[in-house]
Amino acid sequence: MNFPFRPHIRSIAPYSTARDDYKGGDISVWLDANESPYDNGVNRYPDPHQKALKQAIGRLKGVETDRIFIGNGSDEAIDLCFRLFCEPATDNVVAISPSYGMYTVSAAVNNVEVREVALGEDFRLPVEGLLEAADAHTKLMWVCSPNNPTGNAFSRADLEKLADSFEGMLIVDEAYVDFSAKGSMLPLMERHPRLIVLQTLSKAWGMAGLRLGLAFAHPEVAAAMAHIKYPYNVNGPTQAEVIRRLSVEPHDAHVAEVCSERSRLATLLPQLACVRKVWPSDANFFLVEVDDADSVYNFLVDHGIIARNRNRVPLCHGCLRITIGTPAENDRLLAVLNRY
Ligand SMILES: *Cc1c(COP(=O)(O)O)cnc(C)c1O
Repeated sequence: MNFPFRPHIRSIAPYSTARDDYKGGDISVWLDANESPYDNGVNRYPDPHQKALKQAIGRLKGVETDRIFIGNGSDEAIDLCFRLFCEPATDNVVAISPSYGMYTVSAAVNNVEVREVALGEDFRLPVEGLLEAADAHTKLMWVCSPNNPTGNAFSRADLEKLADSFEGMLIVDEAYVDFSAKGSMLPLMERHPRLIVLQTLSKAWGMAGLRLGLAFAHPEVAAAMAHIKYPYNVNGPTQAEVIRRLSVEPHDAHVAEVCSERSRLATLLPQLACVRKVWPSDANFFLVEVDDADSVYNFLVDHGIIARNRNRVPLCHGCLRITIGTPAENDRLLAVLNRY
């Protein structure tokens, strides 16, 4: 495939480790990496290819391991996409607005222009606007679905229209996909080689502290990302702990509880005097328009509750973004807001 990689990327020789030379075999003495020989559980470098972890993730998602990139959070995958495809000060990317802040932060760090296209009425995906904003230097298109901070997921038909028409890489960030009935773009990957799907263990899977993000892509793209990453980007305890948790701790019960709390809050929040509108959510948070966002935000802080003030974000004037907590935490939120 002819992917729009930066021209110099193909000629980079990646950092190599001597351990790549040993394909199994009976090695019991490791004197190649200047590690400490005293076993304390973390004295050895972790597997830079994360082979066992990729097999566990592949089984879980029904994806071949050569289509999987594992990063130190999705944030690493986001940054690597800029470094892999975008020539600083020359190329640009197109993104929906408002959306996740890391796309513009990473773009700025890499000196890449972001062309933001506002969501349409009721936060609909501006398919034509996104395509019109792209030119010959547009390497990436960023769409987050379900979108942060608006909470809505976009239709698969609209996302596929983008995949069909855009000539660069379409990146669909599915950090909240486990909470959405609209489903994932993963089954479309084989039909759309320039599609990259991002997911994470930080939200529904309850492992934000371990830092593990996933990119699913064409094998050539996944290999190119692995080619330029830090060799030991996912540490040993994280690799082992994620494998252990994926085998023993299904997250379905927690996701189901969050979704049932989402229905409850969708009914109860609009009944509060200070709430003007609760936007429909396909995620584990609500965008809530209130009478005076700064004042309600401060009132919540004074009562020990932190929400996210989105008052100064485009199209989110007057809004707070509120994560769905445990039933008891949500009761507390409702009680405090009721006293505002
Ligand atoms: C929370 C979030 C992520 C997760 O980032 P990690 O680095 O994997 O923790 C990714 N994308 C969006 C849109 C998010 O809201």
